[in-house]
Amino acid sequence: MISLIPGDGVGKELAKLLIRLFKDLQIPLSFDIQEAGKEEYEKHGVYLPDSLFRSLEKNKVAIKGPMTTPIGEGFRSLNVQLRKKYDLYTNIRPIKELGPWKNPDCPIDLVIFRENTEDLYRGVEEMVSDTEAHSIKIITYQGSRRLIKRAFDYALDHGYPKVTLVTKANIMKFTDGLFLKAGRDLAKDYPSIELEEVLVDNMAMQLVLNPYQFNVIATENLYGDILSDLSAGLIGGLGLVPGANIGDDMAIFESVHGTAPDLAGKDLVNPTAFFLSACMMLDYLDMGDYAGSIRQGLDLLLSKKETSTQDLGGPLKASEFTDLLIQKVKEIKHG
Ligand code: NAD
Repeated sequence: MISLIPGDGVGKELAKLLIRLFKDLQIPLSFDIQEAGKEEYEKHGVYLPDSLFRSLEKNKVAIKGPMTTPIGEGFRSLNVQLRKKYDLYTNIRPIKELGPWKNPDCPIDLVIFRENTEDLYRGVEEMVSDTEAHSIKIITYQGSRRLIKRAFDYALDHGYPKVTLVTKANIMKFTDGLFLKAGRDLAKDYPSIELEEVLVDNMAMQLVLNPYQFNVIATENLYGDILSDLSAGLIGGLGLVPGANIGDDMAIFESVHGTAPDLAGKDLVNPTAFFLSACMMLDYLDMGDYAGSIRQGLDLLLSKKETSTQDLGGPLKASEFTDLLIQKVKEIKHG
């Protein structure tokens, strides 16, 4: 049993499409659907119901749609609250070219490891006067080390030669300096992997100029968030980038994108990012065969404009794209 949190905005549509995909492909997993988010608050007066926590604590694995966070006011991010409550300290965001965007000789192949529980996202903020506000950046050596270790292990397991550590340690000498020190110390345990250090402003430019030079990137919470959206732009947009929030004994899988209010309710969301997040979940559950055929199906559909979604210049609505994907995966499985 897997917890499924539809969330807000396009999340509701994505959840329905995922249920259809899994049912039609006979993937042997059942979903425990748990409503949460701003829309749930408007209906029942609670953002994160206790039943959601019970479901997560029982199932330990969840797939989640996006949840709204008000901008510049209002309640704090529910997504951040969940990551913090369950210490889901590793946010993994693979950015890989699919379909027409793919350069066959040298495709973009990035995996961002973003620290998920510290940094300015702790929300330690105060108004010290009507015209002055402070926000405290919290970085710990252990918190940095355990995240960077996941990146090094991933590089080792997948045959990547280096890990790129991204900071602004020239300016934030204590906080980013500590993150850098954790990386430098850890690199001594991985003699076969090169440690590359890049400042975040230069990294933004390098990613746009030549993303092919990077593979595994380890960075702090805020830089990781910004660099993953930037990288999504390099491969066709947020409709294509999945993600996972992984702790020591719980994992919540979710796309990088938000609630996309401009698309919600119109059947126009690209479900690829959500389906790829489900593939990461299937890999995590040792059900990689199912994930492999879904990924292959997505790649085949997205390689032609006429079988792509509208955000990529194609004609298909989300539901039509899902129907075709189901058909394609069945063809793949039956040779
Ligand atoms: P967004 O990701 O919702 O949208 C940014 C742009 O990308 C929009 O133009 C949108 O149409 C497009 N887009 C996003 N997903 C797409 C998809 N699957 N297919 C096609 N196009 C897609 O970001 P935003 O507008 O900055 O944020 C909206 C809300 O989502 C905010 O409340 C924000 O806090 C929240 N948010 C939640 C999460 C999460 O739950 N993990 C993540 C990011 C943002």
